[in-house]
Amino acid sequence: MLKKISIVFISILILLIGIVNAYAYNVYSFKQNFYYGNVVAYKWGGTWEPYQSAFETALSDWNGAQSDFQWGYSDSTPSGCSDNRMGGVYYLENANEAGRCQMAYTTSSYVRAWCEINQFVCESKTDTYRRSVANHEVGHAMSLAHNSGNVIMNPNRDKNFIFVPQSLDISAVCQVY
Ligand SMILES: [Zn+2]
Repeated sequence: MLKKISIVFISILILLIGIVNAYAYNVYSFKQNFYYGNVVAYKWGGTWEPYQSAFETALSDWNGAQSDFQWGYSDSTPSGCSDNRMGGVYYLENANEAGRCQMAYTTSSYVRAWCEINQFVCESKTDTYRRSVANHEVGHAMSLAHNSGNVIMNPNRDKNFIFVPQSLDISAVCQVY
């Protein structure tokens, strides 16, 4: 009997922690401007293989995961839209920095989000690892800040195991947009 009670108690505790986590997801106060409908425009930021593939896959991962926010390619930056550039490559000898998202914003919206990958870290890694980095940086361009736990926005996640947006990442985007 005591065992049963403790199992029930632990289950409730896990459930509560899950709920608290869902509400505690960290998001930015600024949002992307829609180009039309639910589509946000981006262009390529001067990239090459295999990094462009990592970002192409990440953009379709995010587009496939939900329908409130869709990335749509535009070869010019449409007027009234944010200047979003995907897949730029830079070289910084810092083993802790796999990628970065350079953001400029007003109190309510993005002026630009440039998602880039650090060749120094990612060159010797697998496609899966690069996909994880790209999905994380694109998350920053969708109003998601860093979070803990098994989410793509955890900077300390195992990038070979968490490489696509997770359910909490997805529900956070749907909550913002
Ligand atoms: Zn980050």
